[in-house]
Amino acid sequence: MRKVALLGSTGSIGVSALDVLGRLRDRFRVVALAAGGGRLGELARQAREVRPALVAVPGADDATRLRELLAGEPIEVVAGEEGLVRAAAGSGADLVIAAIVGAAGLVPTLAAVRAGLTVALANKEALVAAGEVMTRAARESGATLLPVDSEHNAIHQCLRAGRADEVRRIVLTASGGPFRGRTAGELAAVTPEEALRHPTWEMGPKITIDSATLMNKGLEVIEARWLFGLPPGAIDVVIHPQSVVHSMVEFRDGSIVAQLGTPDMRHPIQYALTYPERLDAPAERLDLLAASPLEFEPPDPETFRCLALAYRALEAGGDAPARLNAANEVAVEAFLAGRIPFDRIPAVLERVLEARPPGPADTLEAVLAADREAREAARRAVARETEGRR
Ligand code: NDP
Repeated sequence: MRKVALLGSTGSIGVSALDVLGRLRDRFRVVALAAGGGRLGELARQAREVRPALVAVPGADDATRLRELLAGEPIEVVAGEEGLVRAAAGSGADLVIAAIVGAAGLVPTLAAVRAGLTVALANKEALVAAGEVMTRAARESGATLLPVDSEHNAIHQCLRAGRADEVRRIVLTASGGPFRGRTAGELAAVTPEEALRHPTWEMGPKITIDSATLMNKGLEVIEARWLFGLPPGAIDVVIHPQSVVHSMVEFRDGSIVAQLGTPDMRHPIQYALTYPERLDAPAERLDLLAASPLEFEPPDPETFRCLALAYRALEAGGDAPARLNAANEVAVEAFLAGRIPFDRIPAVLERVLEARPPGPADTLEAVLAADREAREAARRAVARETEGRR
């Protein structure tokens, strides 16, 4: 029986993970849950259902409220970053599902990696910000990082078809988001409601906006660099509107191996949980005839500038990806709050990236400092945008 800590249990990935875990009760027991406190009622309901020993939330007041909601249950409620770290690395779990959104997931995810656990990683921002620290910690502790992100999960599967030195390049597929085919001028007026309507995937709001700007694909390029140890030039992106081919690996002999499936995150989640075994499909199987035709087209870097900015940050190295990621979190929040238009998100990121040359990102402290500084710089850039519109 594997003991699981689920970080980000109330989110889109968290709920899908609980569904998968619920079907595999004979193999997995949830010993810890963690979430942000934004959906305390839902977290309490989950805790009553799966009966973990520990539940963690960042806020002390939220923890108090959760203790009230769970009165009479033999469940310990802990708060703060220490609480999240305990859920990740001090709850007896040997498998951690890292599904907190954003850099908020970095410290608990790294704690699980440092403890040598198996980490099913959805929280791409943690790896984007701290790729060097995280992968070095995994090497030192013997932790296994298994990608949940459907593209990286697909690459992980495709790589089983050949040796690492036979890989020529990987190709990440992108749906193109709700604004595929639009021109830069047409993006100025899009609303948060339109941007939140993803054509193929149902996800949390932050990643849905990232999909609309193509920053999600940019973050995934950086994530792939750390997961698979490939240079930026060996990581390509193609638009594939059907979201059926989840990604591909091209080998030196010209063979391209692809992984296909329905766009349902329960597939990659179960793969990561049960690897190297394969169990029965946790969600609908792919009907190839219904999915046809499958189309591929190049991304439009002029209109969707975030993708090019991510490559630029990856090439620059050091703390540039951490700073890009932090600035993006601020810019997405500002767009969702109606403070900047959609097409100014890349302008905010560019201003932050250009503010200074990259510094080192080889310790957690350096990464957290870069994250804080870039958030401040991004808030200033957002304020300038807002003033400029008055
Ligand atoms: P959601 O917004 O749906 O959920 C985010 C989760 O993180 C919630 O449980 C939330 O808790 C929790 N959370 C937020 N802030 C904190 C915090 N400070 N401390 C602890 N927990 C916190 O996001 P998704 O599930 O869509 O995405 C999660 C991660 O997975 C992201 O990194 C995303 O990029 C990645 N991912 C998601 C995919 C998807 O299909 N959704 C696909 C591939 C990757 P609460 O709301 O209760 O406060």
